[in-house]
Amino acid sequence: MFAADKTVHIHASQLCNFRCLHCYSLSGPGKHAHIPADALLGATRQLFGHGYRRAALSGGEPTLHPEFARLCRGLKAQGFEVSVISNGWQGRDLGALVREGSIDVVGLSFDGPEPLHDRIRVKPGAFARVTETLQALRGRAGAVVSVTQGSLPSLPELVGHLAGAGASWVQFHPISEVGRARENAGMTELPEEALMRLILITNLMRSLYPGVRFHCDAVPGAALNRVEAEAGLVSPLVIDSDGTLLPYVHGMPGWTRLGTIRQPIPRPSVPSQLQALVNDCLTRCRAKAATSFFQDLHDMAMERGDRPALAG
Ligand code: SF4
Repeated sequence: MFAADKTVHIHASQLCNFRCLHCYSLSGPGKHAHIPADALLGATRQLFGHGYRRAALSGGEPTLHPEFARLCRGLKAQGFEVSVISNGWQGRDLGALVREGSIDVVGLSFDGPEPLHDRIRVKPGAFARVTETLQALRGRAGAVVSVTQGSLPSLPELVGHLAGAGASWVQFHPISEVGRARENAGMTELPEEALMRLILITNLMRSLYPGVRFHCDAVPGAALNRVEAEAGLVSPLVIDSDGTLLPYVHGMPGWTRLGTIRQPIPRPSVPSQLQALVNDCLTRCRAKAATSFFQDLHDMAMERGDRPALAG
């Protein structure tokens, strides 16, 4: 809807060495179930044929997938631009794959300055380790910043740190109240006023750090006036850790499922019910001062929770 290149988001497992307070899934240690690389690559080969060109690996922590390197190399060989979103604890694996050209984009997760980051990550030393990884990949990695109400005031301080450590780009992502975030105090969605502040902070950072590219997942409602629901390919398309295909964003309810990688994947075109949902959400969001659109779309899909599934 917003990106020109069609993207598939791959959540190959829920295995993670962290158990963050704001995790959008329920990832953590001990969750060893994963989709084997062969099954994933079989699905992505079909999706490339349908027109998808970007593959984004996240998780869980994607570097812990037992076939992580094989997966990256396989996606690259199929022709995808490969990006990986990581908590940065295992930087060595990432660096080697970046250098050999099997990963194009690395996004490292940050939540705020050190004390806040380590508290949300429930992992002493997490900030220091992810910073080391960013420094080692200097100029070849960026930061995905999960923004909470508590982190807003400290974002300028964090950006100063990220720019000094060599981040090429910074993406501000307002947290979603899904997964473990729903269980933890302070991990609530940002209200409109806070989203507006985030947009203003992003613009300020752009002027202060011209060498860093900034992207904000919050937009003013009026910015959606020119956006239309697409009838073409669903993008982003999500492969969930159980192999389910979901539209747009992790955590969408079951009625929106578009199929599974365990069966041949027909071209994932936007069904009319989904197009109606997107149009209704665009109407709702245009009336807002600011929106994190895909979060609003998720919430609206949940409100329509007991519909017949779009696909089996
Ligand atoms: S937010 Fe990321 S790093 Fe944290 S538990 Fe979830 S998957 Fe792991």
